[in-house]
Amino acid sequence: MSNLDAYRSKAAAWLESVRPTFGKCARKGLSEADDLALGRRYQKAKFDAGYAGINWPTEYGGQGLTHLEKVTFEAEEMKHGFPNAYFGISLGMPVPILMQFGEDKDFVRERVLKALQGEEIWCQLFSEPAGGSDLAGLRTRAETDGNGWKLNGQKVWTSWAQYSDYGVIVARTDPNVPKHKGLTYFWVDMKAPGVTVRPIKLAGGDSHVNEVFFDDVKIGDDHRMSPVGGGFAVAMATLMIERYVATDSGGFGPHLDLFIDLAKATDFGGKPAIEDSRIRQQIARNYAMRSGLDAITARAMLMMQAGMTPGPEGSLNKLVSVRSRQKLSELAIDLQGSSGFAYDAHGFVKDNWTNSWINAPTGRIAGGADEMLLNTIAEKILGLPQDHRPDKGVPFNQIPA
Ligand SMILES: Cc1cc2nc3c(=O)[nH]c(=O)nc-3n(C[C@H](O)[C@H](O)[C@H](O)COP(=O)(O)OP(=O)(O)OC[C@H]3O[C@@H](n4cnc5c(N)ncnc54)[C@H](O)[C@@H]3O)c2cc1C
Repeated sequence: MSNLDAYRSKAAAWLESVRPTFGKCARKGLSEADDLALGRRYQKAKFDAGYAGINWPTEYGGQGLTHLEKVTFEAEEMKHGFPNAYFGISLGMPVPILMQFGEDKDFVRERVLKALQGEEIWCQLFSEPAGGSDLAGLRTRAETDGNGWKLNGQKVWTSWAQYSDYGVIVARTDPNVPKHKGLTYFWVDMKAPGVTVRPIKLAGGDSHVNEVFFDDVKIGDDHRMSPVGGGFAVAMATLMIERYVATDSGGFGPHLDLFIDLAKATDFGGKPAIEDSRIRQQIARNYAMRSGLDAITARAMLMMQAGMTPGPEGSLNKLVSVRSRQKLSELAIDLQGSSGFAYDAHGFVKDNWTNSWINAPTGRIAGGADEMLLNTIAEKILGLPQDHRPDKGVPFNQIPA
């Protein structure tokens, strides 16, 4: 048994042991406040057991292991529906970037330890009404104010901002230069005067994304995490931090076996649906597609084990898997007839087809919309020419809005 296999079985055994306390059965019917409280306890249990900050430096409370152990743990963890979503962004991007770019090491260490133990949450304030795929088009301003800065503007789609203690934010500090060059990166206290968070209700009924407004929010220059005008590079570092996170060829939706069970149990024209050639074709197509994606993931893991960096083919994963999860979920709902519409507000996307279907569109936007992934594939894998960029080199304040 390789070291990684041994690590996987130890992690799987630990996860199994905490499943009754924190797994999806324990969460069923909880209010979001109670679920968050359970999530904080789960995060603390992970920290105590040595499964938090797996690939982070030990001086910051991490385990000092590699990215491979982290991805291996996450792949096992995602099988059980633990309440870990509240910490996904926080520990995924803002806190690692704080470790890398935060100046005051004592402050950074304190924040990291609290975040790792689920006591504090960080959000990522990048997207705006006019700056999503085109992040450098953002309009939130940071203007000098005494020895510090004053923030004004609006962010949108900020995950978990309503529970966040801190956030990392990119703001425009110079509108007179081309759009990528006039941005600066800061951290901000989400409880500071002038910060207003307004949850947005999604189709599935939950409100984990928010609008965040900044009205004359004062921040010190010690909140700055990039050179003035050098914020885009730190924003890119944030987005690239872990290009290879745990993937799921099922698009983070139900396992194909669940579809097969449904097709066996459902009557379709007097016979079990599994006997219909069109249903069998869909099962075969999905199986082939998922096997292809699993092969790409397996190759990426082997490359990382060999000390290499996986290539841009990782962008195929989310694009293909979430799209097909959406289609398969739709077919599963159709098979169930009108009962397919019954919506369980406490259902889980990994075993409830209706929840899976209604949540799939957000998966096709968050973390890079389908069309942006297609652009990446076109440019980085197929070597096609770059997308047309008419505002390249034009000072931001001369770009028509
Ligand atoms: C559930 C969820 C959680 C999120 N959490 C966060 C968060 O925590 N923090 C944060 O900062 N952001 C977050 N986002 C925002 C997310 O990053 C953006 O929604 C995403 O980058 C797309 O930006 P947009 O919504 O402005 O769409 P736009 O960029 O306006 O895109 C609209 C459409 O145009 C297409 N398009 C845009 N540009 C091109 C192009 N060059 N070529 C071809 N097609 C193009 C897009 O693919 C899309 O279909 C979240 C989004 C969702 C759905």
